[in-house]
Amino acid sequence: MCGIVGYFGSDKARQYLLEGLERLEYRGYDSAGISILDHEKNRFVSVKTVGRVETLKKRTSHLKEAMLGMGHTRWATHGGVSETNAHPHYAYNGRFIVVHNGVIDNYKTLKADHLKGIDVVNDTNTEVIASLLARFAEKMTVEDAIKQTLDLLEGSFALLILDQDHPSVLYGAKNKSPLILATSNGDWYIASDLLALPSNTERFHVMSDHTWFKLENKTLTSYQAHGATIDFDFEAFKDLGPLAERGEHAHFMLKEMLEQPQILETLVAHHQSHGFDEALVTALKEASSLEIIAAGTSWHAGLVGKHLLEKTLMKPVNVHIASEFAYHPPFVSEHPLFIFISQSGETADLIACHPYIKTKEAPLLTITNVPTSSLSRMADYVLDLKAGPEIAVASTKAYTAQITMIALLCAHITHDQALSNDILTIASSMREFLQDHIKIQPLVKELLTNHHAFYMGRGLDYLTGLEAALKLKEISYIQTEGFAAGELKHGTIALIEEDTPIIALIGEASTSALTRNNIHEVEARGAKALVISFKSLSEPTDAIIFEDVNPMLSPLLLVVPTQLIAYYAALMRGLDIDKPRNLAKSVTVE
Ligand code: GLU
Repeated sequence: MCGIVGYFGSDKARQYLLEGLERLEYRGYDSAGISILDHEKNRFVSVKTVGRVETLKKRTSHLKEAMLGMGHTRWATHGGVSETNAHPHYAYNGRFIVVHNGVIDNYKTLKADHLKGIDVVNDTNTEVIASLLARFAEKMTVEDAIKQTLDLLEGSFALLILDQDHPSVLYGAKNKSPLILATSNGDWYIASDLLALPSNTERFHVMSDHTWFKLENKTLTSYQAHGATIDFDFEAFKDLGPLAERGEHAHFMLKEMLEQPQILETLVAHHQSHGFDEALVTALKEASSLEIIAAGTSWHAGLVGKHLLEKTLMKPVNVHIASEFAYHPPFVSEHPLFIFISQSGETADLIACHPYIKTKEAPLLTITNVPTSSLSRMADYVLDLKAGPEIAVASTKAYTAQITMIALLCAHITHDQALSNDILTIASSMREFLQDHIKIQPLVKELLTNHHAFYMGRGLDYLTGLEAALKLKEISYIQTEGFAAGELKHGTIALIEEDTPIIALIGEASTSALTRNNIHEVEARGAKALVISFKSLSEPTDAIIFEDVNPMLSPLLLVVPTQLIAYYAALMRGLDIDKPRNLAKSVTVE
């Protein structure tokens, strides 16, 4: 969701901005733009376009290389998708130019209070930032104007600012939305995502909230929001380049699904040799309850994680949807331990929960694929999923890595070596199944002929069904509902008619007979049912049958065919699998 890049160096602005924006494409966006210094005129020129970075590349091919510039991919929050609403945005007098990720919640009040009589050019909440800077800079230094503006802004922002009157300065500021400053060979690079940094980056600094910087002729001065200078600490950069390439695979999603067995094995090997932080284990044992907070696919992983953690720790584990928790925090026990689960570690809905969590003075664990992320930095403990960059918008390998991580944590707490071995068995079954993934295609062709579909199951199978349904709807746009099979007769059965596609998941022995009854009930009403099961629970007509595994871990294996079902359904519809419409990889606005 949205992206920022900036450059201040020798002469690679145009090249880097476009490359960086391309590397940010995976996050999802609807329009793009850059501002770059025209050295002859000593002024910045901007080019914006609706649609892909590819188009922006063509439309900027006439521009000369430059020392300084910034770029943006917009995911519209306020105001339609149009060239006018694309960033960069200009102040009313043209002086300041701004790119912005996030949402300024109080932009209407700011307009009314400080920008009376000023014509607004576009519908976004960003233009107000540029105009506030211009208004304040009429009476004070630019630095003071920035301080004053930052002081007034409510909401989330990562910002880069250029000043037409001083075209040798670049400013940046951050609150809630990520912004990273990096160096290489004496050049400065700024990006909203580590993946957008060039492979030869030497050092980087992940900015904290309420900080900003000024790069003047490549010299950095960094500040706290209210103006005191501070030192940014820089760390060494490890190139993520090859991992972020698609290689020979048709789509990132396919590549990432195929990586899953290896990721499970890596996690097992890592935790067998390194264990877990004993302070975390003690905190988990001492907590009166665990409160898992997550969104989307990570929420589904949390639901599975609850089963594992409750059985291990014998205490209540509650799973919350982050956007609900943030504004309607439920009653929690006296000494809770909070767990954030987030692939990107930047999910705005989770960040919004943090102020409340802080008031509880309780330990916080973040389980994420990005240990440098905002949610990692907020936490007392971090578990790194080590899954490598996940580029496809639809999450696959992060989900299985999240569940594996929680299972390994449980195995560590109970000294259960068998559970780690069970994960390795699952990894081999996964690998075997994935090797021949094309076999899913004819099943999908026959089954998913409608605009709607259902997944059903009980217990862990129901939870897998929720994730399976999300995956299918995300990338194939088939309206899909995952429901607890026991709920069939309490409502969903009203929607069953001739040829309604239903996929039933059977991995739980105690309820398999009941789910089988539900399959008969829907088939009796004309539905087409496809069953995915385990050998000891299977019937000869089941479409996919896995060898038995530890039932506690069955979601790890059952989810794989459902990921492929979503993939092939989208492929057969000719859809943009890695970048489904309207969706963003990491949801950085609430
Ligand atoms: N809220 C701003 C807009 O609507 C920024 C969106 C973004 O982060 O891309 O343009």
